[in-house]
Amino acid sequence: MLLPEMVEVWQETLNWQPEQKQQQIFERLYEEILLANRQFNLTRITQAEEFWEKHLWDGLRGVVSLLRSPTPESIIDIGTGAGFPGLPVAIAIPSSSVTLLDSTRKKIHFLDQLIPQLGLENVKTLIGRAEVVGKQIPDHQSYDMALIRAVSSAGVCAEYALPFLKSGGLAILYRGHWTDQESESLKPVLEQLGAEIESIEKFTTPLSGSVRHCLYLRKFSSPPAERIPDDLRCLRRASLR
Ligand code: SAH
Repeated sequence: MLLPEMVEVWQETLNWQPEQKQQQIFERLYEEILLANRQFNLTRITQAEEFWEKHLWDGLRGVVSLLRSPTPESIIDIGTGAGFPGLPVAIAIPSSSVTLLDSTRKKIHFLDQLIPQLGLENVKTLIGRAEVVGKQIPDHQSYDMALIRAVSSAGVCAEYALPFLKSGGLAILYRGHWTDQESESLKPVLEQLGAEIESIEKFTTPLSGSVRHCLYLRKFSSPPAERIPDDLRCLRRASLR
């Protein structure tokens, strides 16, 4: 068997473990990625343990609360590349419906062939640029959750992700290093976009001990205009006269 099972590690770290069928799909995913990687460069992560940790475990660590109590969620993975973190999430949470978005046609073409091979019925793909697709019907404000890993700076990731969300939706930014200072500079950007940092989780990956962070951004349930305090609104009106 190519891919390590890591049953105890899954259980100890995420209090979850894949069922046999899910483990088989993870293995098939790994094999197909190795095969495709021979033809074109999909991912530099090809060693079995590294694949397990950086693609499977890290992807699922970000949605750990959903793993424990799965609810039907519509999820978009922005800049999914070879399908991460969207594919492990779709495999682990079959009640979710996952859209994989990337601007690179050849990556989406690969995913379109891969998805039926894995027997996944809860995954769709979309070619396009996040900053365009997120502002257009039917994707604008239509997801419960947006995932984004290794695409751009946190500010840009927030700008890409938030327009896709329904009011009250959650964006999860998968980051490596993160500081309080970065949180402070992100806050005004989020205020503009009508969202706030709900929580930040710091964790260490179980095999290589790398430090990673997930930022959970909650989109306000009312649009920003309605959140302007009344006294400020009066000031604005006054300044328009
Ligand atoms: N999320 C994956 C891939 C990261 S590489 C992972 O963590 O492994 C970044 C990916 O984002 C690339 O596949 C690139 O094509 C895509 N991308 C970059 N900018 C984008 C944009 N504006 N809209 C959509 N996809 C984008």
